Amino acid sequence: MNIHEYQGKEILKSFGVAIQEGIVAETPNQAILAAKDLQAQTGTSWWVVKAQIHAGGRGKGGGVKLAKSLDDVQAKSEDILGMNLVTHQTGPQGKLVRKVLIAQDVYYPGETETDEYYMSVLLNRQTGRNIIMYSTEGGMDIEEVADKTPELIFKEEVDPGLGLQPFQARKIAFNLGLSGNAFKEMTRFVSALYKAYVATDSSMFEINPVLKTSDNKILAVDAKVDLDDNALFKHPDYAAMRDIEEEDPSETEAAKSNLNFVKLDGNVGCMVNGAGLAMATMDIIKLSGGEPANFLDVGGGANAETVEAGLKIILNDPNVKAILINIFGGIVRCDRVAQGVVEAYKKIGEINVPIIVRLQGTNAEGGKKIIDDSGLKVFSAITLKEAADLVQEIVK
Ligand code: GDP
Ligand code: MN
Repeated sequence: MNIHEYQGKEILKSFGVAIQEGIVAETPNQAILAAKDLQAQTGTSWWVVKAQIHAGGRGKGGGVKLAKSLDDVQAKSEDILGMNLVTHQTGPQGKLVRKVLIAQDVYYPGETETDEYYMSVLLNRQTGRNIIMYSTEGGMDIEEVADKTPELIFKEEVDPGLGLQPFQARKIAFNLGLSGNAFKEMTRFVSALYKAYVATDSSMFEINPVLKTSDNKILAVDAKVDLDDNALFKHPDYAAMRDIEEEDPSETEAAKSNLNFVKLDGNVGCMVNGAGLAMATMDIIKLSGGEPANFLDVGGGANAETVEAGLKIILNDPNVKAILINIFGGIVRCDRVAQGVVEAYKKIGEINVPIIVRLQGTNAEGGKKIIDDSGLKVFSAITLKEAADLVQEIVK
């Protein structure tokens, strides 16, 4: 689950990670109050107004602006709140900005001695260990750094039995070229960050930039925190940070019906039982000349309700030109699934896209008969080859 920068920073701070302080606001008025509060707390007289959306690249897109007076805070907040922010991560349609973070300016006016670093903590699935990835090339697009100058990205792997060792934190500070107080600050920063990552059951932290201020403090200026959905039950306070408005509405709808759904950009919707079969089905769609419009795993108990919920979500997508339902009847019987499809179809009413149902396994023939006899615009297939051929014909 993704959360906003301001929420991520709140979590980091609670673990002793030094952050650029800020207060979230939903209106220009709240923004001014926030700016005044920050001034009282930190002494700052310049602020940054930062759009809060679940996407990076906000700076380049015009969603992060420096304000040099309270009037300026109001003006910049008015600009950013309600704007449709387009970044390389939002897609061309952009995202509506509903909140701004009013943060203290930590790049002190006139100073040039600041430095930006990149740091992330994530799981290396190949070794099964957490790694800390870091670079002197902070503040920019890390994918570009990885592409052009991979030698400038360092990785520190952590032994799960031992945890992050003090010598590793020192090595990171050293590789970042730090000395004196900044060196000490960085070792503290790294240790606290790693502790927070483990304790929050996160799947990724990305802090870009980590800032060395002109007075040698090390601060998290940005925070992308991705919490592991499977561990949220342990952290009700983090689960409450979910911002439904930032998530894809069809995915939210699917989650309510316990469906594993991921929205994609193609033209063939698919509904499958089992994640492996779902991926194989997406391959088949591609091979037959279509592009999958989604990933949808209805799980082990495909019945009329789940089929109906799944169909509705797929049909909401105007790009969908055909739907492929691919069910293997292992525990679930194919005739039951076929009955479910027919019932769901009748319940939803007008469906203008052709549906191809491929049933294999227990009672597959019986299932095919139910579909064929239904008189609905549903094509049945038993083998994957037949299903793929049907998709190909329709997509053409
Ligand atoms: P992102 O563009 O979505 O990654 O948002 P960031 O939080 O990383 O902010 C983008 C950029 O805004 C940073 O790389 C900084 O250069 C700049 N920025 C952030 N905070 C401050 C600040 O306090 N003062 C100034 N002058 N610039 C800032
Ligand atoms: Mn950033």
